[in-house]
Amino acid sequence: AASLQDGLAENLSAEESVEKRSKDGSKQNGSTVSITVVGASGDLAKKKIFPALFALFYEDCLPKHFTVFGYARSKLTDEELRNMISKTLTCRIDKRENCNDKMEQFLQRCFYQSGQYGSEENFVELDQKLREKEAGKLPNRLFYLSIPPNIFVDAVRCASHHASSPTGWTRVIVEKPFGRDSESSAELTRFLKQYLTEDQIFSYFDNYGIIRDIMQNHLLQILALFAMETPVSLDAEDIRNEKVKVLRSMRTLKLDDVVVGQYKGHTKGGKSYPAYTDDPTVPKCSLTPTFAAAALFIDNARWDDVPFLMKAGKALHTRRAEIRVQFRHVPGNLYKRNFGTDLDKATNELVIRVQPDEAIYLKINNKIPGLSMRLDRSNLNLLYSARYPREIPDAYERLLLDAIEGERRLFIRSDELDAAWALFTPVLKELEYKKIAPELYPYGSRGPVGAHYLAAKYNVRWG
Ligand code: NDP
Repeated sequence: AASLQDGLAENLSAEESVEKRSKDGSKQNGSTVSITVVGASGDLAKKKIFPALFALFYEDCLPKHFTVFGYARSKLTDEELRNMISKTLTCRIDKRENCNDKMEQFLQRCFYQSGQYGSEENFVELDQKLREKEAGKLPNRLFYLSIPPNIFVDAVRCASHHASSPTGWTRVIVEKPFGRDSESSAELTRFLKQYLTEDQIFSYFDNYGIIRDIMQNHLLQILALFAMETPVSLDAEDIRNEKVKVLRSMRTLKLDDVVVGQYKGHTKGGKSYPAYTDDPTVPKCSLTPTFAAAALFIDNARWDDVPFLMKAGKALHTRRAEIRVQFRHVPGNLYKRNFGTDLDKATNELVIRVQPDEAIYLKINNKIPGLSMRLDRSNLNLLYSARYPREIPDAYERLLLDAIEGERRLFIRSDELDAAWALFTPVLKELEYKKIAPELYPYGSRGPVGAHYLAAKYNVRWG
């Protein structure tokens, strides 16, 4: 495989980056990229992967020569695949615009191959079809494994032996969940590495309970990016080195610092909301957490004794993802001493809202204009949609573009994955071994009361 640094976008503006791509080869006439979606008949492929590929095509971000192949066991023709995909493609970029022509052009580049995931013969057939479309060009190949994890290894084995690119690069995107603890994750890594090198694997992080689904991966990634020291450069390896240092400096999570919850049904305003265990696919006595809160610590010089509180849950009162930095209390609060104002408890707070309505805002204590001395909480607000009216790309667009360009900054390296599992595996095992019952919280509430006690233990305010 060619070096993954080939298409590095560096720290360029979007326009510069597009221009650079056309100069550096990924848009050269001589090469082509074949993108094979393995598990093409599935929910994720229809909902996210094909629409993201279309959005990249619409924005002229895909190489000049590319084809998209769907691969799954279902018996479909090229036309049936196109019909299936066309139902979920939207003019995301500008909803007022009619993009039927673009859609048709995109669909004409989509093909289908039916096959078993562990069949060498079927992957040989796929390889032949890929070769026909790649004819005369340097072939680069990207495989997106959108299939259940128990068949990852079979698919990787067959793809690497029989359908990897003969002369260009071959890369594989692996969906989450990547294991359920340190051992299973290490085993999966070991298997994959028999067939692929680290720089060919783009791991992407389900439903194994909220800790495995969200905390051990998404939230921990955000924490590591937030808490890392400045990397030497924006190169993927420099960033990942700093993230690993943070993860390895973290204290292993203790059960005392974890609260787990599960939502229960309730009725509000005449409307009934279901409990997690009302789902027909969930056992009635399930102890799977749908909510978790945890207090984590990074034992390094910068973050000594600073509590990092993580909270994630389903069926809560709002749906949002954000980082909140609460500044320390000022000793000997002047305003309280002189004016008796009770804003003492509310220190300034920096909020980085990841979704929805991306924003960065600083909640500050501010004097209300006028002759009296009264304070108010106010926001200095950078709301992205107001400042940058352009639509923000879906995460799957970024993911696919980075994999095509060989940009690994946002992907997880296997030592990072080991460090992340090492933090959570003991507590996950203890929760399961001791059969800890999650604290019930009503559907649509702020989560279990225990989470508020955990926050109070570390002097953190939770809204
Ligand atoms: P699906 O259950 O829809 O499976 C995808 C395809 O794989 C199916 O269309 C089916 O295709 C094939 N398949 C399903 N079960 C089996 C099986 N037991 N043995 C062999 N083939 C099977 O999965 P999703 O599309 O929802 O998800 C794909 C991957 O992405 C999974 O690993 C999932 O955990 C992960 N993921 C999904 C998300 C989502 O929103 N859906 C979000 C994040 C991650 P066929 O029968 O035609 O071969």
